[in-house]
Amino acid sequence: MTDFAATKAMFDIPQDVIYLDGNSLGPLPRAAPGRLAGMLADEWGKMLITGWNKAGWMAMPMALGDRVGRLIGAEPGHVVLGDTLSIKVYQALAAALELNPDRRVVLSDSGNFPSDLYMAQGLLRSLGKGHELRVVAPDDVEAAITDEVAVLMLTEVDYGTGRLHDMATLTRRAHDAGVVTVWDLAHTAGAVPVDLSGAGADFAVGCTYKYLNGGPGAPAFIYVAPRHADRAVPALSGWLGHEAPFDFEQSYRPGRGIERMRVGTPPIIQLTALETALDIWDMADMQDVRAMSVALCELFISEIEASCPMLTLASPRDAAQRGSQVSFRFEQGYAAMQALIARGVIGDFRAPDIMRFGFTPLYIDASDVRAAVAVIRDVMQNQLWNRPDYMARAAVT
Ligand SMILES: *Cc1c(COP(=O)(O)O)cnc(C)c1O
Repeated sequence: MTDFAATKAMFDIPQDVIYLDGNSLGPLPRAAPGRLAGMLADEWGKMLITGWNKAGWMAMPMALGDRVGRLIGAEPGHVVLGDTLSIKVYQALAAALELNPDRRVVLSDSGNFPSDLYMAQGLLRSLGKGHELRVVAPDDVEAAITDEVAVLMLTEVDYGTGRLHDMATLTRRAHDAGVVTVWDLAHTAGAVPVDLSGAGADFAVGCTYKYLNGGPGAPAFIYVAPRHADRAVPALSGWLGHEAPFDFEQSYRPGRGIERMRVGTPPIIQLTALETALDIWDMADMQDVRAMSVALCELFISEIEASCPMLTLASPRDAAQRGSQVSFRFEQGYAAMQALIARGVIGDFRAPDIMRFGFTPLYIDASDVRAAVAVIRDVMQNQLWNRPDYMARAAVT
């Protein structure tokens, strides 16, 4: 059994804060400042460029990739870290399209994160082969998987509502129709158990600064199924994805397996921060995390619905169809969220009217949920959000 009291003690969260936004940016592992200070002084400071070999920097994207891979059911040696998630979406989609060259449709859904759709639009435009990005409602995805579709590109957990797709079923349907799959696990990794290998997923991507707690700017990850790893063509053919980067050849030759999805120099400071978060993840079992997440979400929904009738549940009511977040709709949701943040309950707001709360068992427990509900009840029942300064929007919501 995962010892959640022990994992909670490993995060540095301000005492007057209840942090329900780990779905956007995980909190600071207590070990991170010391580990980073050591890395800066002893590795960068003393080893200088020899750190790439001596401190093992160059191996970090693969080594930490495997530790992320354990949490998402990837085969060892098939996940690599680097770049941002938007970049990884582009790489995965480009490689997936090359595996299905005779088809012209990329199928996604309206619950996908805009950046994934934008990256697809940009890629399809520069391919110039007349590809179409077809975006359907989440419930209509299964019926839209036809033999016109080259790639099914979905985010498993909807960032707005928390709605969870059935990866195994949709992947099977896709394969039956000759469709290659790209799964975005941004709101899955560290939130919901996933079995990429068992589901037969072709490509998967995700970020490490949300539930995985790697810190702002932490690198993204990409998974390519072993059966595709040595034939997936990298669209971003950077030198570190070359088979022999230090031969400095004039022409690109893809590296072995997932190594070819590397692009350029890895962010070692960010990877060092992520390593401290993965040390905590090593103490956790994803089934325990899921069970606790469901219990916390159920508690939150029932307590809010019992006392805040002005809030409308935007997330699926059935826990089996929900990720690790709960969203409520409220017309003045932005102002209400500012009022909550001012009182130490940190969630976030997603346009047009969604108040979003993430539940992260590594550091949130039932007493935190009850304390947060008490603050939300006070703000909502007494309309404490009704102040001009809470209504003025900041750049990042
Ligand atoms: C958070 C998120 C992103 C963000 O991409 P970055 O390149 O890391 O900024 C992209 N896609 C999805 C589905 C996300 O949830």
